[in-house]
Amino acid sequence: MEAVSMTCPSCGVAISAEWYFGVFGPLSPPGGGPAPLSRAKSMLTYRYLVCPACREHVVRICERVFRPPVAVQGVPEVEERDLGVCYPRASGRKPLPNEVTNPNLRQDYQEAALVLRDSPRASAALSRRCLQFMLRQYGGVKPGSLASEILEVLPRLPGYIGPMLEAVRLAGNLAAHPMFDKATGIVVDVEPDEAEHLLDLLDLLIDHYIVAPAKGHAVQAKINGKYKNAKK
Ligand SMILES: [Zn+2]
Repeated sequence: MEAVSMTCPSCGVAISAEWYFGVFGPLSPPGGGPAPLSRAKSMLTYRYLVCPACREHVVRICERVFRPPVAVQGVPEVEERDLGVCYPRASGRKPLPNEVTNPNLRQDYQEAALVLRDSPRASAALSRRCLQFMLRQYGGVKPGSLASEILEVLPRLPGYIGPMLEAVRLAGNLAAHPMFDKATGIVVDVEPDEAEHLLDLLDLLIDHYIVAPAKGHAVQAKINGKYKNAKK
């Protein structure tokens, strides 16, 4: 067993739990003869836990590569490679707030989060599309290239978002990609962590443009209701 603190990929809650270990494949088959594992160049192991918050299973696969190969006598050197969470197929990020109702934005964001580990380039392309959609829909920018739209909206954004958006513009070198004028969603190489930072930025923009105003309106409606009742 190994204690772990992580975000549950199913419910998005920060949890503390314990991994249980197991190995795929019998070391000696029930009918006798050589086990498939003796021919393998590596061994697949799994770590398994049940989320204490949502009670869903989480399974992570690791590959243990033997050096020298397992057939050689003696204790082999083992190198372990984490292949990631294989179940559930989830992004590991917090679910989108319910206030985000636009179906295209929801789909693009969720897919960007889902493919982050397998293809940061594809994830970044989808995130950039979300970014441009939000800048046009909520930021009121004049449609142009993503780089020009970022420059236009920067002075209107709070201090905790602006520098991150500017960093995205520079890291993506958006101005240097003429195709970004026409198609934000094109796939280009990304710097390490860039795709994840794009998703973090989208979270901030979603909160700023969609969630915070919706909460504000709800509080305002409550206050208005109170005054109406008080006047009666
Ligand atoms: Zn959970």
